[in-house]
Amino acid sequence: MISYKLEQKNIKNLYIRIKDNTVIVSAPKKMKQKTIDEIVQKKSKWISNKLKEEKEQLEDKYNKEEFIEIIKENVNDLTKQTGLYPNKVRIREIKYAWGSCSSKKNITINMKLIKYDREIIRYVILHELCHIRYMNHSKEFWELVKMYMPNYNEIRKKLK
Ligand SMILES: [Zn+2]
Repeated sequence: MISYKLEQKNIKNLYIRIKDNTVIVSAPKKMKQKTIDEIVQKKSKWISNKLKEEKEQLEDKYNKEEFIEIIKENVNDLTKQTGLYPNKVRIREIKYAWGSCSSKKNITINMKLIKYDREIIRYVILHELCHIRYMNHSKEFWELVKMYMPNYNEIRKKLK
């Protein structure tokens, strides 16, 4: 079942649109609930595709200066907490990862994170800092991440 917000109007036909991840159904005033549900269900594939599309077209949450500032603050804070210091931190568009850490301790943060919440940006920075100690995704690595961000797993799920 698809949940939707219903708007009943003086119209002839039913319309479905998606706004801010919400399905909005405009239906004629006289149309029965059952009929509305049936039409919505028939359109469920189209609706879920649209929802997916909208998610992929996330908008920037910050301007570039703000984004750089968020990264700086978190790097400062997290390096102090963890005692792990990168050689350099760069911000770039990268294709297949949210961040990376080289063997020379150079950290790269993906510019695309500008579309994500602060806690997610913080998680990526922490993740890459932890690679300074462990250049892998071993159990020890994840334990280190967890030590500084106990809920990292929930945050990680939001990063797609
Ligand atoms: Zn990693």
